[in-house]
Amino acid sequence: MRPTGEEIPRQQPRGAVSRADSQVDGGALGPHAGLRFLLGFVATFRGALLAVMASFVASSLAISVLPVLVGRLVQAVAREGVSAGVVYWYALLLIGANLIHDLFWRGGEVLYRRLLVHRGYECEDVLFGRVIGQPYPYFVGKFTGKISSFVATIGREFRDTLDAACFTYVELVVRIPATVFIMFAVNVWSGLTFLGAVLLMLVVGRRTARRAFRAEKKLADETSELDGHVIDIIANFVSVKSFHQERAEYAEVRRRRRRVIDAARRSSLWDIVFWASMAVIVRYLVWPLSILLNLYLYRSGQLSLAEFATFLSVLVMFSDFIWMMVWEIAQLNLRLARLEEAYHYLFGADPVQAAIAVGPESPASGLQVDAGSSAVVSGQVELRGLAFAYPDSPTRSVLSDITLAIAAGEKIGVVGRSGSGKTTLVKLLLGYYPLPAGTVLVSGCPVSNDRLAAAISYVPQDTALFHRSIRDNITYGASVAVPEQEVQTAATRAHAHGFITRAPQGYDTLVGERGIRLSTGQRQRIAIARAFLDDKPILILDEATSALDSESEVLVQHALEQLWAGKTVIAVAHRLSTLRNMDRIIVLADGEIVEQGTHTELLAAAGRYQALWERQSGGMLPVD
Ligand code: ADP
Repeated sequence: MRPTGEEIPRQQPRGAVSRADSQVDGGALGPHAGLRFLLGFVATFRGALLAVMASFVASSLAISVLPVLVGRLVQAVAREGVSAGVVYWYALLLIGANLIHDLFWRGGEVLYRRLLVHRGYECEDVLFGRVIGQPYPYFVGKFTGKISSFVATIGREFRDTLDAACFTYVELVVRIPATVFIMFAVNVWSGLTFLGAVLLMLVVGRRTARRAFRAEKKLADETSELDGHVIDIIANFVSVKSFHQERAEYAEVRRRRRRVIDAARRSSLWDIVFWASMAVIVRYLVWPLSILLNLYLYRSGQLSLAEFATFLSVLVMFSDFIWMMVWEIAQLNLRLARLEEAYHYLFGADPVQAAIAVGPESPASGLQVDAGSSAVVSGQVELRGLAFAYPDSPTRSVLSDITLAIAAGEKIGVVGRSGSGKTTLVKLLLGYYPLPAGTVLVSGCPVSNDRLAAAISYVPQDTALFHRSIRDNITYGASVAVPEQEVQTAATRAHAHGFITRAPQGYDTLVGERGIRLSTGQRQRIAIARAFLDDKPILILDEATSALDSESEVLVQHALEQLWAGKTVIAVAHRLSTLRNMDRIIVLADGEIVEQGTHTELLAAAGRYQALWERQSGGMLPVD
């Protein structure tokens, strides 16, 4: 079960950050923050990575000597005849080097599978731990679809890079210097030709690859924007259907898709330019130049047959290989750019100071110890001079000078027109935004508002449920398994047991994404059942009885009255009739408390509340 009112979970103090966060994200993110994050992650398993790489290094060394052995073999055949013993020695060495290459390669693969594959996926766990530990405003300012797709992007890029590092980069790092070295050993001119070719390809390849990369980046941007747009349409399918906007949305998606297609064309053009320029260098420059040069050297006796044969086999192996090098360098740049873009989206723009460290850095609970006040919240709360503006519009005051003392067990109703600040007040009590020290007090002692939030259970206006079973939704937040009997008792008290047992699989029925298979009233009763299990001294109800038919309203109202017995209640409501039985009603206007008192007192005062009361039609407040 969650902690009760006597025990408040200890949370991380404001401004405290996990060690890894403070290293990686301290202040504004640097241009390579994503790379630094990944390197930090790789450092946690560097031993395993080195073991795998060592195997691939040995494998690549074995294959690098093949041209030398080919040369020796050809020379031996030419000099001694095909039946000479030395020929068989070279043949054996050639076969042996190939076998060694293969054995180490397979060994590397097996090690990679055992030691590294899971790391590629765990990277996403670390990222998810960071994301889910971010404070509330983080999620308000971002597209949820983009958050998950960028976490997946970093994971994919990391896996691809890890894969390439073991299977490609190691080979490149060993074989390219070996190739150039062997060519220098054959003769200086061949060495210079190959070295020159490598450098030329790097220069030309870098330029064209950069253009190709920019074009591919544009394509990725267009694609992700379109993906976001499509997710937004599907998420708002109710509006699309209600306003019959299917055709308009389809046309808009097609219009945006054309931009993606244009970007894809441009990107493939630069790919072609890249490969063509590489081919020009290898086929039209390196091959003719080096073949003619080595033929000349061989004819003039400056090159032995062994050296000539070595040169030829290096040339054949080199062509395919060198292309891969330039391409891989370009790919690496692209991967790093994608990584940085995703990382900066996830952790760049918003401060992560208030993030709770979730994941390997804090394996126990994900919550860190608050060194602040040890006051126990028993339902008595005081707000003192509370003022608030949203971080994205800091100059626009939404709440000002809210001073309010709520006694344990008191039932407070909060009313006011739309935009007066009711929801904001609830968000602050729930700890979504940090408040300055001293504005929230419990038993006269200042506490942080997220410490207060831990003593609050909350029934929101419209409960979005997880696409899990009804049972899982009711027990959501309970830290240990809740006995079936308790779940059913909570559901019964919330007037939910009846419709749950009529559902196809009872408590095991899946509720559909965001609880779409249930009515608003049913979702709300599930939220109330959840609040019954989540037994806290303070209960916040956010317009809990609006948008319900009258039968649901009666059931919900009755369930709520059961729920709030003995608790401190802060209820935001549009229906003033539901507030009649409150001990006190707070009237908010433009973020200030303008009146407070009981229903009767406020009516007698003939002020704003009375005006609201007069103007309400059918029990609903006017919304503007
Ligand atoms: P109520 O619940 O009384 O209708 P709210 O507390 O939702 O009012 O809103 C109060 C004011 O704060 C409104 O002017 C609203 O536009 C603004 N507001 C609400 N949420 C945000 C936000 N996330 N960022 C910036 N301003 C906001």
